[in-house]
Amino acid sequence: MLLKGKKILITGVANDWSMAWAIARRAHENGAEIAMPYAMPALEKRVRPLAESIGAKFVQECNVQNDEQMDSLFANIEREWGHIDGMLHAIAFSDKNELMGRYVDTTRENFKNTMDISVYSLVDLTRRASKLMTNGGSIVTLTYFGGEKSVPNYNVMGVAKSALDSSVRYLAADLGGDKIRINAISAGPILTLASSGVGGMKSLLRLNAWQTPLRRNMTLDDVSGAALYLLSDLSSGVTGEIHHVDCGYSTTGMMPNDLKDTLLKALDNQ
Ligand code: NAD
Repeated sequence: MLLKGKKILITGVANDWSMAWAIARRAHENGAEIAMPYAMPALEKRVRPLAESIGAKFVQECNVQNDEQMDSLFANIEREWGHIDGMLHAIAFSDKNELMGRYVDTTRENFKNTMDISVYSLVDLTRRASKLMTNGGSIVTLTYFGGEKSVPNYNVMGVAKSALDSSVRYLAADLGGDKIRINAISAGPILTLASSGVGGMKSLLRLNAWQTPLRRNMTLDDVSGAALYLLSDLSSGVTGEIHHVDCGYSTTGMMPNDLKDTLLKALDNQ
């Protein structure tokens, strides 16, 4: 019961494949009370039953680009809960037509929209949440390795993740004095609604499992365990950090020998 009595706002649940859902469930199992808004009306039929199964509150529409909906969510939380102890930011969006091909072809409109939804939303949500974190708190966001190195097709989302990682460091410096910590989990690839929009996701997943030191892909249990640690007091001295939960992928500089030999053999036979 690492989160016993804590009130935690979980954003980014779209369905039961969402990483945010795995984290919401794990937080609930560990004693937290959960607030669980959803992004748009079409998602309500999936999110509401999930929320009911863990007694989550504030199951209301909250598109991060809609200031009235953001105001309403935080006003309701303040009225009923008074304060919050933790928040998960698990929000990203880009036009999937630009998550394939070349980054150089990114349009201004999609660049701005991707940055607004995937990065500015962290700043906006953090400012609003921090006002209610009167006893201190912990904020966690979800990022990806494509913000550190180029990854085929990840394109503008990689650039957004770089800005998200940087925002984590700046927000940590802003809020540390109020005993509010903020960290990112750099999750390995996993199939979700959002990731299925990235071109070549299925082949990336197959190759990724071969390339990690643990020789498998990250699971929802892996990511929810790390989030539990970061949301709880176990990580009380940790802030501004990008914590990789990727089965070790980001620590390697070259694929393992068996994969390299197989690839070279295939290339030689072409
Ligand atoms: P997901 O599709 O389940 O979650 C993405 C969420 O973003 C959805 O709930 C969607 O409703 C929400 N969202 C999009 N636009 C929004 C808006 N305008 N307002 C409010 N919410 C909005 O997929 P996921 O993979 O669980 O994604 C969660 C986070 O994890 C994202 O930031 C994603 O980039 C990141 N991530 C994913 C992977 C992966 O391989 N799946 C790896 C590393 C990081």
